[in-house]
Amino acid sequence: MSQSKGRLYVISAPSGAGKTSLVAALLKELDQLEVSVSHTTRNIRPGEETGVNYHFVEKSAFQDLVEAGAFFEHAEVFGNLYGTSRLAVQERLNLGIDVILEIDWQGAQQVRKQMPEAIGIFILPPSLSALNERLNARGQDSAEVIAGRMQQAISEMSHWQEYDYLLVNDDFAQALAELKAIFVANRLELARQQAKNATLLAELIPA
Ligand code: 5GP
Repeated sequence: MSQSKGRLYVISAPSGAGKTSLVAALLKELDQLEVSVSHTTRNIRPGEETGVNYHFVEKSAFQDLVEAGAFFEHAEVFGNLYGTSRLAVQERLNLGIDVILEIDWQGAQQVRKQMPEAIGIFILPPSLSALNERLNARGQDSAEVIAGRMQQAISEMSHWQEYDYLLVNDDFAQALAELKAIFVANRLELARQQAKNATLLAELIPA
């Protein structure tokens, strides 16, 4: 992908850390910010909508997109395929919109290789027992299923050091404020402020 006006953020977390809720709340607080809608081959869950949560596609359609080079990154997670559309992301970034990818560590590694300036954020649950509780929220699954989810969560968390920022989602409001601080601080960087405030700078500091 080429250099662009918007900034790319990669957010990863084990399931149960509250990543999706935090991102949804962040989108309500900041403008010029969008979350990328991935393609996936997994089954649609109740309450989900295609084009909103994911673009739900057949495996063959997904593989065609892989072969056409349509994905910026793609990976198999829990037996399903997931991918981020290269064009969709580039288009939003070119418009100056910041884009969030909510993806796993494998996808994050692929993004980092192609776009080292992308900002990585990892979200942790506050404790192992809280994670266990959140993974068993419905209280309907067998001990074996929960143990499997826990193993997957621990494997995802082992990649935390590959990211730029680390958040612990203990108190939701505090985690949201911290997440927002990362975005706001990045928007205040000199280069971005210079582009945004060119007229003001020219007025205040004549050449
Ligand atoms: P779920 O199916 O529960 O929504 O997501 C399962 C996992 O897939 C989560 O860890 C999520 O971050 C990851 N995921 C979702 N979309 C993508 C994607 O486009 N690329 C990659 N690499 N992972 C994704």
